[in-house]
Amino acid sequence: RRATHEVANFGGLNVPRVIVSLTRLPQLEYADLRAAGHLYSPFLDKFQMSDQGADYIYTGEQPVPFMLPNGLKEIVNYTAWVDAGRRPHHYPVLTADTYMEGLPRHPQLNFLMVGLDVLDAPLLRYLRHDPTVVLVLATTNAHAMPEMRRAFFELLNYQVTCPVIIARTYPDQPLEQTQLDAATDLGGLLIDGLGDGIVLGPELLAARSHEEWLDVLTSYNQLSFGILQAARTRMSKTEYISCPSCGRTLFDLQETTAMIRKRTDHLKGIKIGIMGCIVNGPGEMADADYGYVGVGKGKIALYRGQDVIKKAVPEALAVDELIELMREDGKWIEKELLDEPVGV
Ligand code: SF4
Repeated sequence: RRATHEVANFGGLNVPRVIVSLTRLPQLEYADLRAAGHLYSPFLDKFQMSDQGADYIYTGEQPVPFMLPNGLKEIVNYTAWVDAGRRPHHYPVLTADTYMEGLPRHPQLNFLMVGLDVLDAPLLRYLRHDPTVVLVLATTNAHAMPEMRRAFFELLNYQVTCPVIIARTYPDQPLEQTQLDAATDLGGLLIDGLGDGIVLGPELLAARSHEEWLDVLTSYNQLSFGILQAARTRMSKTEYISCPSCGRTLFDLQETTAMIRKRTDHLKGIKIGIMGCIVNGPGEMADADYGYVGVGKGKIALYRGQDVIKKAVPEALAVDELIELMREDGKWIEKELLDEPVGV
């Protein structure tokens, strides 16, 4: 990972942060924060953060008109930050021009919008000495990833160690296409250790109803966490690594994966490999915490990491035995013990 200094909870040894842009949702209400994974219960008058609760929201010119739940902070445009009277957990985002004007800033955390084109020598030298700035790196280049990679190398060449948030916006297109594009643009950089946070902006999307915006932004938040998980930089849910199946597969892979998922999908951060046979399975699930591997007709081997722990468990008992193995390791949590989400 690119070495960065810590600014608030960005960079250093912190996990990459997720920012949800709510600029297209005017008149924000408590319940709207579900798009950022913070669920409000009118009955309890409380928020609950889901496993995919964003760290920051960006609200542009319209700061939220109420106190944010614990764990959620807000980024606003510079003028809105000044007008709002510099509230707690409220941070400004500046353009390169405003930044270089030397206007008053937040004492701990300021966001600076940059692209490759504005990262010139004077700005890069200045950034080296600012312990409060987090860069928000954006591009309109169709080949986003190579351009942003070049920007990272400019920072490396000038020994600028500010944390960087990677920002991307996509036009109206099927969600699956956005998932592919974002995974390529952001995931490709994160896998190489570049990036200390991500934000998927809705600015290019056409107008839609409030409810439809909530659905889009919720999917952007989930996509952000999914990309971080796939890049192995921040685990927020259970991970399943299953083989594609082939003529050697010794059990119904889809049915078994669905069954294991149903019993274990509350175990945040655990990686489970589900492999159809012993021939290639153990190699293909190399970084899994636990493995469920077919070894014969109706027989399953259970792995802890790369070690076989139970050699030929009858298939009917194998999921229970897998759970038993996790229990022995202190990794198992009963689903019922987890708080139910409070809903909206
Ligand atoms: S792990 Fe075995 S069953 Fe699965 S795809 Fe590879 S060879 Fe086929």
